[in-house]
Amino acid sequence: MIQDIKPYVYDVTYRQEDIIDDSFVCFKNNGKILLSDTKGENILPTYEMVKNMDLHYTYLFTISGQKFFYADNASDVQIPGYTYQSKNTFRTLQPRHLAFGMITACQITDWYEANKFCGKCGAPMRHSSKERMLRCDNCKNMVFPKICPSIIVAVTNGEKLLMTKRSPSSDHYSLIAGFMEVGETAEDTIHREVYEETGVRVKNIKYYKSQPWSFSDSVLFAFTAELDGSDEIAPHDNELASAEWIDRKDIKDVNQGVSITNELICAFKDGII
Ligand SMILES: [Zn+2]
Repeated sequence: MIQDIKPYVYDVTYRQEDIIDDSFVCFKNNGKILLSDTKGENILPTYEMVKNMDLHYTYLFTISGQKFFYADNASDVQIPGYTYQSKNTFRTLQPRHLAFGMITACQITDWYEANKFCGKCGAPMRHSSKERMLRCDNCKNMVFPKICPSIIVAVTNGEKLLMTKRSPSSDHYSLIAGFMEVGETAEDTIHREVYEETGVRVKNIKYYKSQPWSFSDSVLFAFTAELDGSDEIAPHDNELASAEWIDRKDIKDVNQGVSITNELICAFKDGII
């Protein structure tokens, strides 16, 4: 998965750090990220490349001691050999620890950019010196990073797995997933989402793993569950293009890649769950 970056270590402890020549810098322009046109360890821009520019930097985190910063007053910074690229690049970009670092930087910096001013009174927000939090000195409003909890669940019926498609023309299968609503437990969300999207009921919910998923500002809690009662599929909403029971032996080879969805599908195909 995208966060599996061993032997590299992600350290998101909040502190103040000085930027140095080899610090990576997150530059954004219209939702795209400045990346090298050539692949490899030099994929991300460093402070050394832009130190002659008059920019202000905010420390984000380190990966095995390598600092990541955000240039918070930069717009359309240009570096020869680097172009602004889609965030989806990070789904396949290598090395993975840098892909994970930069998509994580995107989530934090998107939050900073969306909260420059207080949502209650409109006054400018100030960075807390103690924790990753933005504070309004006028009305005392406090805003913490946006992380939306979500569930994904592998629903099984003996040798069959409940698989879904978001688009009828796609050959990409997924699993039941959805954001948690206010007041719900993860188990409540699973019962609601599975029923809304497929009309079936589930039992024996078991926790599997979790995954930070910065592409949608979320964290995914993955579970397995068993069919409870009828296996007839009758969706109550139109979120999915299709949902179907697929036999373990008929599941096509899936690249485990970066997502917990693919890991769950592979785990069922291989008889692990
Ligand atoms: Zn305020």
